This record gives sequence, C-alpha cells and structure tokens, in this order.
Amino acid sequence: MTVEIWGDVRAALRTTIGKNSYQSWIEPLEFVGIKDEVATFAVPTTFIGNYVQQNFGEQIIYLLGRSGAAARRLHFAPAGQSQPAVQATARPTREAEPEAAENQAGAGLDPRFTFDRFVVGKPNELAHAAARRVAEGGPVTFNPLFLYGGVGLGKTHLMHAIAHELRARDPELNVLYLSAEQFMYRFITALRERRMIDFKQMFRSVDVLMVDDVQFIAGKDSTQEEFFHTFNALVDGQKQIIISADRAPGEIKDLEDRIRSRLQCGLVVDLHPTDYELRLGILQTKVELYRGQYPGLTLAPGVLEFLAHRISTNVRVLEGALTRLFAFASLVGREITLELTQDCLSDILRASDRKITVEEIQRKVSDHYNIRLSDMIGPKRLRAYARPRQVAMFLCKQLTNRSLPEIGRRFGGRDHTTVMHGVRKIEELRAKDSQIADDLELLRRALEG
Ligand code: ADP
Ligand code: MG
Repeated sequence: MTVEIWGDVRAALRTTIGKNSYQSWIEPLEFVGIKDEVATFAVPTTFIGNYVQQNFGEQIIYLLGRSGAAARRLHFAPAGQSQPAVQATARPTREAEPEAAENQAGAGLDPRFTFDRFVVGKPNELAHAAARRVAEGGPVTFNPLFLYGGVGLGKTHLMHAIAHELRARDPELNVLYLSAEQFMYRFITALRERRMIDFKQMFRSVDVLMVDDVQFIAGKDSTQEEFFHTFNALVDGQKQIIISADRAPGEIKDLEDRIRSRLQCGLVVDLHPTDYELRLGILQTKVELYRGQYPGLTLAPGVLEFLAHRISTNVRVLEGALTRLFAFASLVGREITLELTQDCLSDILRASDRKITVEEIQRKVSDHYNIRLSDMIGPKRLRAYARPRQVAMFLCKQLTNRSLPEIGRRFGGRDHTTVMHGVRKIEELRAKDSQIADDLELLRRALEG
C-alpha cells in the first residue's frame, strides 16, 4: 500500500520541483517502507540522501502525510543497509563498531539541535543557563544535571546542544548520549550475549554520560539496578552526568528510592510550558531558516502571532505546523495568509485548541475588575462596566474560535458591530495605555495557564 503512496508522492514532486531535479534526485530513491513514523529510502550514495533530506525532506514528509502515510522523519540508507541506524546496532557482528563511531563522530545527535538554534525565554532560561554551564566543561560542579519538563519543550535539544558544544571544545572527550530505552536495550543485549564486562567497561569509560527520558526505566528492575551502578561509578570518577525526564525525580513512579535521591543530589531544573512570547520567538527564528529554503514565499502580517496564540505549548507541534504551512504554500504557490493557515492547519488547530470558553473569560475578567458577572453581560453602559466588557470581548476574539456574532450573543445579545467596536477600542488602548496592556497580559496568562 505504501508503495502506491510513494507513487503519488513522486508524481506530485515531479510537478513541483521540475523534471530535471526530479530525475537527478527523486528517481534514484528506492522506497523501503515506513516504520514508527520513519520513512526509509535506499539511496545509491549518501550524498544523494543528504541532498534530498535538505532540499526536499519537508515536502516529502508533507506529501506522505497528505496521502495518509504519516512520517515524522526520513531515513536514507546507502544501498544494502536499509535498516534505520538504531537497529543496525542490534546486529551482533557489527556491535562494537557503531558504539565506537557513536562516541566520536556525533552520530545519534541531531545536528540542528545546537545552542544557536535554541530560543531562550522566561520558561526555559534556567534550564538553558544550566545547560550552557555544563557545556563549558571543566571541573564538575553539579552532578547530575537533571532536566525535566513536558513533551516537546526542548529537553533533547538542550542535551544534544551540550554534547555538540563539549565535542567542539574537546574532540577527544568521550561523550555518550543515549535514551534510557537504548540503555536498557544495550543492557539486555549484553546480558543475553554474556558481554556484561564489555558493557560495564564501555559505560564506565565515558567522560560525559547523557541519558534521555530516564522515566522509561522506572519499574524495570534489573535495568534500574545497572543504571544505578553505572551512575555511581561515574559520579565517583568525577564524570559529568546529564539526565532528562518528563517529570521531577520525586514524581517518577516505580523508581527506586536510592536512585531518586541520587538524581536529586545535583541540580534539578525544569522547562516550563512555553508562553506566547517564547512561541512567537521560536516561530520567527524558524521562518528565518525557511526563507532560504522557500525563496519568494511571503507571510502575511499576523500569521505568526495567530499561531503563537493558538498552538499548544509543545514546540514540536508548533514546528510541524510551520513546516506544513510552508510546504503547502510553496506547492500551491500562494502567499501565506491567515485564511490559508486556518485551512491548512485546521486539524492541528482543533487538536491544540485549549478550549477556553467565553464564560471562563467573562468570569475571570469580572473577577479581575471586581464587578458582577451580571453587570458585565447586562445592558448597563457605565464606563466601570463597559471597559471590562470590552476587555472580555477582546479576549474572546483572541482566545476562542467564536465569531463576532457568537460573542455578541453571549454578551447579552449584543450586535456583532458592538463586539467589533469593543475589540478595536481595546486594541487601540493596549498600544498607549500600559495599565490595559498589563491587565490583558495578566488575564491571558491566567486563562491559558
Ligand atoms: P523534548 O525532548 O523536551 O520532548 P525536544 O528537545 O525534542 O523536546 O524539542 C522538540 C522540538 O522543538 C525540537 O525540534 C526542538 O528543536 C524544538 N524546540 C524546543 N524548544 C525549543 C527552543 N527553545 N528553541 C528552538 N527550538 C526548540
Ligand atoms: Mg526528548
């Protein structure tokens, strides 16, 4: 079935990238299949794979998705080794090789996850500062560095950035990054193949160990046990350890107490959910990167602000939305307007709808200005009621999907022109009255948080 999908994707690519590019780059690809959202292609040379990845990667992912074959990543394997890299380590005869390679060349690290590309804002500034500090190398000051936070907030990005930086400073340094799942996998393989001594030696010989998503080993007793020993040996040897998890050490269930307290010994920092400013900053940075890739594409004012408001805190979702938007706009050859955005991303927008209701906004705003809800909705025109009412209308327009007539109806059956007037009034005031601007900010945070 997926082979047919690839046929569709190829046909679409042929028209968008032109016959010459198509023949040079797309024709040589042999589609192998999709597994765990990774689409694998056999390529005659690594160069072709890299080129396709860089120049057509996002379009291919977009087109696959449109044809019903969701892929998150593309993998290009030079002919004859079409298995994804992680699985390659499973082949016993090859086992020693990939490990050695991984320690040197930065394999397993995403080259895009650097400090340069990490946008810093209030929610992640502490985690970022701690990561920077560790990336300077030198004597170990806190061990481990424990980073935690929800999905898609940048934990893996920061860990890779540390690894890139450490390796750039000292190419001799033995930095090992792996997920807790890979740690378990290697441990089990070592047990089965009776190579525990190699395993222990390998892990104890690293200078810096990074284990991502450590919550994964909770409840897996023998893996935890081994992790604990590895951990202690490295700490005793003054080696830096960096751990991430989706929650604080104290909140990981089924984690042995002694491991938990060990994890809490160093510096524990969390990445908070992104806020509007950080999301906007990330989007702006990404757009700069896309400009090179999609020259000629223009973006209407307000689109990024709209996305920053409407998409959830998960940066991965935010990035995916932008990628799709650019790929789509370049395919149809149109400016990226608010309308195109809403069409193209309707599923994402629906899914990440925070479902803030008009009622909630009315309640919060009337509390904030200390007036009764009935006065906000009722007919009184006193300034003391009218202004909060307009603030609430403005927030409804900004934070919900409701149309102006719908909003009007919920404000005591007012006309949509009244709502529009209110929204405009607040927009105006926001620009010149810092009290209103502060109120809006406070309310928005309270509603979104
Ligand atoms: P986590 O490991 O916390 O689930 P990731 O580190 O994988 O999240 O981040 C998800 C995606 O979002 C990655 O593509 C990453 O580059 C991007 N990202 C997250 N935070 C930021 C940030 N502050 N600046 C730029 N990109 C970010
Ligand atoms: Mg991660």
